[in-house]
Amino acid sequence: MDRATRDENQFRFFRRCGASPEIVLLGALAALSGASACGDDIAMAESETGALSADADGWSGASGDTTSSSASSAGTTGSSSTGVATTSVSGSTGGGSSTGDACGASDTLEVISPGAVSTNPVLLAVEAGPSVVRVSYTAEGIFPLGESVDAGSDFAVEVTLMTLGPRTIEATAYDSCDEVVATASVVTVVSDDDGMEDPGELGDPVCYPGASGSWDACFDLVIAAEHYDYPPALDQDPNYRAPKAFLDVGGLDLGVYVAPNFQLSELIKPAYGDYVVIQPHALARLQELRDKLGAIQVTSGYRNPEHNASVGGATWSRHMYGDGFDLYPSESDLESLFAECAAKGASFRQLYDNHVHCDWRAETVDTRFFGDAKDAAPAQPNPPSVELVADGDGFLAPAIGWDEGEPLRRWRALDAQGDRVAEAYGARFVPPAGSSTVEVEVGGVLRRTIAVD
Ligand SMILES: [Zn+2]
Repeated sequence: MDRATRDENQFRFFRRCGASPEIVLLGALAALSGASACGDDIAMAESETGALSADADGWSGASGDTTSSSASSAGTTGSSSTGVATTSVSGSTGGGSSTGDACGASDTLEVISPGAVSTNPVLLAVEAGPSVVRVSYTAEGIFPLGESVDAGSDFAVEVTLMTLGPRTIEATAYDSCDEVVATASVVTVVSDDDGMEDPGELGDPVCYPGASGSWDACFDLVIAAEHYDYPPALDQDPNYRAPKAFLDVGGLDLGVYVAPNFQLSELIKPAYGDYVVIQPHALARLQELRDKLGAIQVTSGYRNPEHNASVGGATWSRHMYGDGFDLYPSESDLESLFAECAAKGASFRQLYDNHVHCDWRAETVDTRFFGDAKDAAPAQPNPPSVELVADGDGFLAPAIGWDEGEPLRRWRALDAQGDRVAEAYGARFVPPAGSSTVEVEVGGVLRRTIAVD
């Protein structure tokens, strides 16, 4: 945020205490004297006497709304509410919706967790005091992150936890002046009991087609020495269980041909870690694509969860399961590759403006990596979606749930007889005069139509 342009009536700041950001409500800076766990910094801020352009490192401004929820984090339980509860100067701060009621008084907040659960999402019940009108939540590893919920009569909230193990969920309660009146935290445990069998002993080596296509490139799998935070399997879909065993590429020659036209180095990013999943059946399909279309560049292959998050991949991206690839056709074109993926049995495809995503998510995952499944109930989490909406004299097609980046959008305008009068690619489309209908095809898989006024 550009500090010089901040509204001087802002009354809420986030301040970093060591590594943990903490919510501090500054009704009046002086009112906070000694009330925070980070007293030294507060004293410095007081000397600024409310000058919001204070350049003390560790301050970051906020506009007094729900963005505050993202600043709350594990490890600050209790201390921020202590500082906030005594604040009683809302009238002098331009505190937004203040109606002259007494605001900022301490209230109560309790979050009730179901405890250990093995399915998502998790339903949390909340009991809040009489002045609370809104409760926001945040935690490391929840989805959506920092979701803020307008409190209804029961204050219940659903959160989806993206990683196994204990998670501390922080809740912050606001009164009608949007001032913090209480905080609370609760620990919810997403157990590893996801309906899947453990692999037990590591089984046979995993084999790939190899340079000759005779399935002679074989490697032993290992239990990863590094922990990868895979999300819990949604709906207990066995194709989304976390891998139990990995290739250890740290000990392998990355130049080895795992298929006639693909070296191991083309399918992974070694900088992101030594432990890798590449499912043999998916690699075989990739080679078949290459046989058909000529050289294909794998722009993204296996991603561990951390790598996937760093590139903005979907939470349950198939790149993390070793059967999804982003591809660029060096000797063909994107639309041909997109079509050929379907011909080669890809269960999910997306067409982007600079690559095609193909994966084989519906094919049973390789049990050497994933262990045996107790049951089979395939489902597709987060199906991609798109809307078609008017935007001035044009149209937009906002898309959500796509694995990576912006999908390719192909627009057409049709006249009243249904004949095409214009076609274009791009994020926004302005139909020519005389158009009756606009349609957009998004990512090669979804089509939407809208009438032109
Ligand atoms: Zn992809």
